[in-house]
Amino acid sequence: AYWPSSGKLSVEGLSARYSADGPSVLHDVSFTVNSGERVGIVGRTGSGKSSLTLALLRCILTEGKVFLDDLPTNTLNLDSLRSSITIIPQVPELLSGTIRQNLDPFEEHDDAVLNDALRASGLFSLQRDDDDVKLTLDSAIASGGGNLSVGQRQILALARAMVRRSKLLILDEATSAIDYETDNAIQESLRTGLDKDVTLLTIAHRLQTVMDADKIMVLDAGRLVEFGTPREL
Ligand code: ATP
Ligand code: MG
Repeated sequence: AYWPSSGKLSVEGLSARYSADGPSVLHDVSFTVNSGERVGIVGRTGSGKSSLTLALLRCILTEGKVFLDDLPTNTLNLDSLRSSITIIPQVPELLSGTIRQNLDPFEEHDDAVLNDALRASGLFSLQRDDDDVKLTLDSAIASGGGNLSVGQRQILALARAMVRRSKLLILDEATSAIDYETDNAIQESLRTGLDKDVTLLTIAHRLQTVMDADKIMVLDAGRLVEFGTPREL
């Protein structure tokens, strides 16, 4: 499978719709994110932030061009594309099974690697000493992830991205469902647990979350209306 070596992402004239006869939800969006950059994406509800993540993976109908490491993604098959970009959705669906199976479905990694990722992701640090059940690699995940909070599911999905060593990671932050402590844990893990060369796009609901980003992207009604450093905006 194709694997991006740098995580540079360029988008040219990207438009998207959910069905052939449906309205366009992204209009002519163009931007470039360089390798290792941290970008915050903001915009009102319905402005197209999640749709942008789906369009990058061609999960919805798109027009325009997307380049990964200067390679047009329409030359990649969908499997390669979807293994090259890790997207953590607002409400991740997990596999039923264990934490281990979710982190490493093809049994490619040692426990030490998986435990390192869990630690770096912050999942363990969210546990309290008096919690009845300690999470381990063998802890069971109910169908879809129902026995974990949405925030914990996002953290587990983040740990999976760390195990995969994704060079391009897009986090679609959960909205109201997430508590302050979990949100902070995720932000802290992103700051400290990722390799420096990982390109990170964070869809954020609090401006404070993106103030230390390299660049901020503002979407409004499916259009990119601002893209620059926090100082410029
Ligand atoms: P939020 O901050 O609430 O997550 P968002 O910026 O992620 O909002 P999107 O979910 O991308 O917004 O929605 C953009 C537009 O696409 C909206 O008009 C929405 O109604 C439409 N849309 C979203 N999901 C679907 C879907 N599954 N089918 C059809 N239209 C959709
Ligand atoms: Mg959304």
